[in-house]
Amino acid sequence: MSPFEASDTALTGLGYPLLDERAKLTAAVTQPVTPRAGWEVISALVTVKAYPSISRKSGESVCVAGVRLDTPRPEWVRFFPVGFRALPKHRQFEKYQVVQLLAHRGSTDRRQESFKPNLDSMVLGPVVDSQSGTWRRRWEVLGDLAGETTTCALHRAAKSAGQAAPSLGLIKPSVQDLIIEDNPAYIPGGSTQIDVDLFGTEREVLEATPFIARYKYFCAEPGCRGHEQQIVDWESGQLARRNLASHSPDEAKKLHREKFLDEMCGANKDTYFFVGNQHQHPRSFLVLGVFWPKRYTRPHPALAF
Ligand SMILES: [Zn+2]
Repeated sequence: MSPFEASDTALTGLGYPLLDERAKLTAAVTQPVTPRAGWEVISALVTVKAYPSISRKSGESVCVAGVRLDTPRPEWVRFFPVGFRALPKHRQFEKYQVVQLLAHRGSTDRRQESFKPNLDSMVLGPVVDSQSGTWRRRWEVLGDLAGETTTCALHRAAKSAGQAAPSLGLIKPSVQDLIIEDNPAYIPGGSTQIDVDLFGTEREVLEATPFIARYKYFCAEPGCRGHEQQIVDWESGQLARRNLASHSPDEAKKLHREKFLDEMCGANKDTYFFVGNQHQHPRSFLVLGVFWPKRYTRPHPALAF
């Protein structure tokens, strides 16, 4: 066997694709977006979908973030505002689904990852599933972004550079606890305001998330003094609402803890947190979502050569 064949076998044997997973996912978009002057065509894998919030300026919107598939190396991207529930069904993407759309830089949000999306242009590609808990393709898409920064480093950068600092990251936490409290803004059944979109269509009224859940953790920076951050993943809010429909508040909190602490941050998982800051408060970071593949599933490309 020649050395070339040996290394080639080693590569495939270890599960490393010979074609870039990101390029394959982009190519799998069957009806690509037509470029338009003044807009950038962006392909991304959605990794974060936050619970909807209401603002006077954007109405009901969702913070969506992901990893670009069309840049030389993986880069973070944030789309805002996304009026997710107002999207037609065929554009209501899932987490870990490929999206392609036209977008441009916003005039007020100067964070390097932020784009204003043209939602009418959006087409959806494949959903990258968890592959029996190995998250193999998800690992490949994220590449070096997993653990590349720490919460302490993000805080430091935001303190010195504000909106010019990195505003998204996938950090490795050492999770200490999940604190769950009632959300004072929660009104069962939603607020009494009628929720009508621009076209006069009534939608199911948005209910605030019933619980405020906050992770206590240390990031990977030596000497980290600990962080406590709210998790704002849509899934967390939905789980609380679902559990409250058939359980007492205490039982619902227990079930929430079982899912978001015991299961997602269990010893058998290689857990990471998607963290991001807030536009108006760049020093304030939240946990936007949890990345929780089984332990020992992360590929180690450096070993291949
Ligand atoms: Zn830290």
